[in-house]
Amino acid sequence: MSFFTAVKATLLENAMNSFLSRLRLKWFLATRSLGNGVDFVDTLYRIYLNHNKIIHFREGYPVYPLMTPALFSKPAANFVSRALFRTIQNKNLPNLMSFAVTDECNARCEHCSFYEGVEEPGRHVLTLEESVKVIADAQQLGVSVINFVGGEPLMRDDLPQLVEAVDKDLSTTLLFTNGWALEERAGELRKAGMDSVFVSLAFADPARHDEFCHTPGLFDRAIRGIRKAKKLGFSTGFAATIVPETWQDGELDRIVELARQLALHEVFVFDAVPSGRYRDRADLLDKSDWVEEMIQSALRYNRDPKYPGVTFHSEMSSYRSVGCSCGTSFFYLSPYGDMMSCDFNHAKFGNVLQEPLWRVWERLSTLPEFCQAKWGGCKVKDSGSRKLETVSAGNFRNE
Ligand code: SF4
Ligand code: SF4
Repeated sequence: MSFFTAVKATLLENAMNSFLSRLRLKWFLATRSLGNGVDFVDTLYRIYLNHNKIIHFREGYPVYPLMTPALFSKPAANFVSRALFRTIQNKNLPNLMSFAVTDECNARCEHCSFYEGVEEPGRHVLTLEESVKVIADAQQLGVSVINFVGGEPLMRDDLPQLVEAVDKDLSTTLLFTNGWALEERAGELRKAGMDSVFVSLAFADPARHDEFCHTPGLFDRAIRGIRKAKKLGFSTGFAATIVPETWQDGELDRIVELARQLALHEVFVFDAVPSGRYRDRADLLDKSDWVEEMIQSALRYNRDPKYPGVTFHSEMSSYRSVGCSCGTSFFYLSPYGDMMSCDFNHAKFGNVLQEPLWRVWERLSTLPEFCQAKWGGCKVKDSGSRKLETVSAGNFRNE
């Protein structure tokens, strides 16, 4: 073999080895990162929700709870990027806005947190133009989830225009409704780009639910509405508010069973808070034993694929997850433009008609009581925190 042939052979062998090594590296990374990716996602949701069940795939993207963007969707990228930014800037940025778009409602539920807390008859409700600006400003500040709430949001005729105004590359959208008008309006909302619908349910029994909401026929209409929403491709769920007495009476199990029969994706459980019409319920203050019992007993649903996901607000706001993070990562906006820390704390921190939304958020999110998530759970249920909030905002109406 001549010298030049030997050099050529060596170079060829080196090139082949290098090519094979790179190929092997790519294979290693592909398989290992897939495995790591699954482990990462499993751990992430197990910490956040206490379960890692994919409740369904919306437009091909996996959904764990409806209250967060579908994994790997564009709003999820916004969520992750903002999380990185808030670390770099050492600032609290909101990822969720609960936007109460109206102060009207056709029902009168006994547990309502809105009425007697926020309703101030005769006040100016944000117009379409003002509301669209709120949405744009909130998205600029980083929100990746927008909850449309009320009152009853379907009483607002221009709700589809509000949903259309949301930049869907940045935020996922949810509706919380009593379901009265859902069957008629689901189509226009889906067209406008709404992703998810929660129908509020206090009881799985029609007569008891209608009586509790003082609205005959509400249960049947709500069920017809959620069926229609499911057919149209919405992510769907029940939002169930449970109190100690309905927990003892087994109502949560009946609601979950009804959701299973209707093939809904999730039951989101709120443990009732002493706010609004329940503001004088001292039995809801400082007591969490029954809530813990409820969370533990419902874990079995998330291990069983036959059932919808069962997600607890109190789990997410506990020390095991992100803690009570109102003012740290989310806020509530009343129909009049007042920013509040969450749907259940009616202290006002500023109004978006009087100053920019980011400035009000900065005020709220830098207050000592709000600048860090509260690990011990709900601020409104904690008698000590309620006193602090009175000091913060000067008008905590629940006291
Ligand atoms: S439907 Fe909602 S806003 Fe209306 S009374 Fe019931 S809880 Fe309150
Ligand atoms: S104070 Fe915190 S835990 Fe309580 S209802 Fe508001 S956000 Fe949820």
